[in-house]
Amino acid sequence: MGTSRMDINVRRASYRTVIIPPKEINETNNDIRLWEFTGEYTGSSNVLGLVVFSVVQGIAIAQMGEVGKPLQHFYTALGEAMMLITNWVIWVSPIGVFFLVTSKMLEAESFAVMVGQLGMYFMTVLVGLLGHGFVTLPLVYFLCVREIPIKFLINMGQAILTAFATGSSSATLSVSMGCLEEKNNIDPRVTRFVMPIGATINMDGTALYEAVAVIFISQVRHMSLSISQIFAISITSTMASIGAASIPQAGLVTMVMVLDTVGLPAEDVSLIFAVDWLLDRFRTSINVLGDALGAGIVAHLSKKELKKGLVAVSMN
Ligand code: ASP
Repeated sequence: MGTSRMDINVRRASYRTVIIPPKEINETNNDIRLWEFTGEYTGSSNVLGLVVFSVVQGIAIAQMGEVGKPLQHFYTALGEAMMLITNWVIWVSPIGVFFLVTSKMLEAESFAVMVGQLGMYFMTVLVGLLGHGFVTLPLVYFLCVREIPIKFLINMGQAILTAFATGSSSATLSVSMGCLEEKNNIDPRVTRFVMPIGATINMDGTALYEAVAVIFISQVRHMSLSISQIFAISITSTMASIGAASIPQAGLVTMVMVLDTVGLPAEDVSLIFAVDWLLDRFRTSINVLGDALGAGIVAHLSKKELKKGLVAVSMN
């Protein structure tokens, strides 16, 4: 039996449940719990499903030991090959980006409106990042350590500035470890364990920015989001930030996954491209700050163990 093109598309799509609102909503039928619902295939790939499957498969491969090694090597080699292809793409990207941004500018009904929208988006991300970095994170630190981290933050100033200047958590790693060890007196055993992991997977700023960016893009596209879609965006952006490399503007790449969750095309990242280089610097600073405060909390919580470790070393 032949397979039609439509069959293939339906198989590629993800399945979801949708509520069907009545044609006219009045007082008798405005209870959403009584509305009909049905299932439908959507055009996007099931990114959240893929991420969950990948995590489960990773755990399974780790559990398999020697038997799982070929699969591990396969994925490592695939990763290397993708990195090589990405490098080639990066070489031609300036030309592609130029045309993407220009086409969006020409498409816009009014240039002034577009600049105004971008400005509001920029401010939203900035206020969110500052609130997270200087209110939420210090509050978590305070609750765990019982100490207001003003001095701690001042001591991290050089690392925050380096993160802002380089736009890369990895490039800032040595400076942030230096600030933690020399100025904040955090045990090197903690910094050397927490900071490299933090720089790779803990990116609060990136997660926050990706969620705001996707909501902004859907608003520009006049697409209203349901609560479940906003929830899916927040989970996928957290996952995407874990997957993002700690290099400049990596968050922009993994954001494609988040866009896909709500059925928006990947090329829509070009809507925010113009301001991303600057936002990247702010979010990288918050990423580094999050890692540093995390190291401070770990050092405080493992004080006893660290002392025991010192005694054991000196007795040996
Ligand atoms: N530049 C960020 C970092 O290195 C990642 C990103 O959000 O693009 O932490």
